[in-house]
Amino acid sequence: MLNRIDLRGRVPSPAELRAALPRAEVDVDAVLHHVRPIVDAVRERGVEAALDVTERFDKVRPERVRVPVAELDRALAELDPAVREALEESIARARKVHADQRRTDTTTQVVPGGTVTERWVPVARVGLYAPGGLAVYPSTVVMNVVPAQTAGVESLVVVSPPQAEFGGLPHPTILAAAALLGVTEVWALGGAQAVALLAYGGVDTDGGELAPVDVVTGPGNIYLTAAKRLLRGLIGIDSEAGPTEIAILADETADPVHVAADLISQAEHDPLAASVLVTTSEALADAVDAELERQVGATKHSERIRTALLGRQSGTVLVSTVDDGLTVVNTYAAEHLEIQTVGAREVAARVRAAGAVFVGAHSPVSLGDYCAGSNHVLPTAGCARHSSGLSVQTFLRGIHVVDYSEDALREVADKVVALANAEDLPAHGQAVRARFSGAAGVAGAA
Ligand code: NAD
Repeated sequence: MLNRIDLRGRVPSPAELRAALPRAEVDVDAVLHHVRPIVDAVRERGVEAALDVTERFDKVRPERVRVPVAELDRALAELDPAVREALEESIARARKVHADQRRTDTTTQVVPGGTVTERWVPVARVGLYAPGGLAVYPSTVVMNVVPAQTAGVESLVVVSPPQAEFGGLPHPTILAAAALLGVTEVWALGGAQAVALLAYGGVDTDGGELAPVDVVTGPGNIYLTAAKRLLRGLIGIDSEAGPTEIAILADETADPVHVAADLISQAEHDPLAASVLVTTSEALADAVDAELERQVGATKHSERIRTALLGRQSGTVLVSTVDDGLTVVNTYAAEHLEIQTVGAREVAARVRAAGAVFVGAHSPVSLGDYCAGSNHVLPTAGCARHSSGLSVQTFLRGIHVVDYSEDALREVADKVVALANAEDLPAHGQAVRARFSGAAGVAGAA
């Protein structure tokens, strides 16, 4: 069923490999011309423009952007108890893992009397996006909010597209998840217009203030990603988290039923989702293909899944050895990477590029999507080569605090002056010399 790429007997160069590997053609630049007018309109006309765009693409015009707190309480009260219990478990596990990501300030004594302290300070206000187009993602509310709260962010707003069937409110499970997490500010807005309003701020239809944020995080479709790219700088963003990806590195010991189920599980997100099997075993590849045929028809979103699996972004890569497989997956840099081989833990330790790694037969990506404790907002499209998933760190800024005594400055003054002169910036040196003029003086001044 999956396209097949046979790399047995040769390991291409990294550049050839990148070209050969399946990947979605999600050309964010190509939609910038479509998204820029949306961003400009929201900058100029605020909420009214955001609601105009919403009416066009979401087919609903919410009465106001900010969701009344009573609606959050109602959604929580009406939440299915089993879903509530599951969300509570997900939140508890995520809080446990993210608490260990907290950073402590460190002070380095560079010389006697001279210290540099690195202080970690949370961002003041953040906008956290939970998608709501093809599927609704209360789990993404958890994955955004937990690290932001753990970092100590004081003001946070959750945004999610309004749903026509719920009278212009975001999906009730999104509202319930926000309420469960103690979030009181939720906006009913999606896509590029949501990012623009978060960046510029505005005034709601009832006169309420919609204050701008410093950082926007969360996954979404190509329009949301394009808006993040356009507004980066005015706001900070996390990595670009687009259509989801799963790669599975497997040998002949892997169970084809599980491998197929895991490939399908991520294909379920989006017709553009990527499911890639990298294997040393042609027999496993054949068995997985047969399993995919068998399992896809039985799933609820079989059409979306089939499109994703048959797309050029999905496929099977045959390799000679697990080492070659590691070269492939390290070049591919998947959002999610499962290792289903003999000695999976040892193989996983050699992974150098992936958003998250899932080790062995009992750590499927679905576990990480909801209840592993890890974060599921992860870099896609190869961005895992240079970026990390959402974490407490995303919401912190490190500030260097420099504190030198007179003696400590005097001791290094000559060096500062020498470097300032070498850069032809004598006023820099003078700023140090001025402190010692008339006293011991500083040699080397221009
Ligand atoms: P979404 O919330 O990202 O997008 C819906 C919004 O798009 C709507 O509010 C609408 O206003 C806007 N929109 C729709 N068509 C438009 C158009 N033609 N022009 C401008 N705006 C338009 O929801 P989605 O579409 O379901 O996408 C969610 C994405 O997030 C999926 O690709 C999924 O795979 C991905 N995802 C990724 C992760 C991750 O961590 N990488 C996690 C969860 C979901």
